[in-house]
Amino acid sequence: MKNKELTRVSWSFLVYSKELLLIDFIMLVPGKLLLDHAFANQYAVGAFNANNMEQVQAIIDAAAATNSPVFIQVSRGALEYSRMTYLRNIILAAVEEHPEIPVAMHLDHGSDLEIVKRAIELGFTSVMIDGSLDPTGKRALSFEENLAVTQSVLEYARPLGVTVEAELGTIGGVEDEAGVNAIHYTDPAQAELFMKEAPVDSLAVAIGTAHGAVKFEGECILRHDLLQEIHKRLPNTPLVMHGSSSVPEELVAQVNKYGGHMPNAKGVDIEQLQQTTQFGVSKINVDTDGRIAVTAAIRKIFAEKPEEFDPRKYLGPARDALTEVVKARMIAFGAAGHASKISQS
Ligand SMILES: [Zn+2]
Repeated sequence: MKNKELTRVSWSFLVYSKELLLIDFIMLVPGKLLLDHAFANQYAVGAFNANNMEQVQAIIDAAAATNSPVFIQVSRGALEYSRMTYLRNIILAAVEEHPEIPVAMHLDHGSDLEIVKRAIELGFTSVMIDGSLDPTGKRALSFEENLAVTQSVLEYARPLGVTVEAELGTIGGVEDEAGVNAIHYTDPAQAELFMKEAPVDSLAVAIGTAHGAVKFEGECILRHDLLQEIHKRLPNTPLVMHGSSSVPEELVAQVNKYGGHMPNAKGVDIEQLQQTTQFGVSKINVDTDGRIAVTAAIRKIFAEKPEEFDPRKYLGPARDALTEVVKARMIAFGAAGHASKISQS
């Protein structure tokens, strides 16, 4: 990693982060550094959502165990749930514990410029502006509206060295408050036009994945043809896949066995997901799998040890279960082994 670049980034945060001088020597990296390395080497960096300490620990433990770069991402809802500062500080603790792992702290589904500004003040090194939906998450924005809000974020974030992800097309399903039911596939010609007008660092595309635990009613079919066409038109743009949990049957079965109720759960086929990295996909978001792993572990303990009431006795195993899921995804996405290469380059 270029020292000059790191110095620039850390200094920009020293200046712009109103609240945190500490960040000057805790080295988060810009998301773009991870995206570009993954893009050049045809793998995808896993981007995992976190809401609490155990989830952040699981993600960094998995990254350290597999030598993987990682996006630790926080949705707008999670940021508010954590009263804005708690998660940021927990993520910085993870980086402090594992300085050898390049970590980007990413805002997932930023809904407007205000929340993006807030995240950047907190020290986030990467932000997503989801201009595919209006800030309530209930109405799809027009192409022009999406472009306008994305441009305003670019204008603000780029001079600060913060990476910007946008979304074109709408990914179906519901994640936190963000979501509509229908998938509107990304139009390759629109994607090309969008990138001309708002040249973001990465673009989330809709090719059939969906948020949540019920992604498909029938078979999982990702539109590789569409992805290929987008990649052909945007040969230098790292692409992002949202809603890409695989919803493992055994974890869903464990939830249901111990009193849960997750009917019709169905995720993305891992092999179909792996094929996307040859067409420019450089970041793959996984949230639901982590939620299910945590829930399955806690349910099992509550059922088998009803006498247990020490939170560490069920949050600890939940953390371990999540670590295993994150490790498996990092390996599947081809990110394992790359952390030290980024650090040395
Ligand atoms: Zn998403």
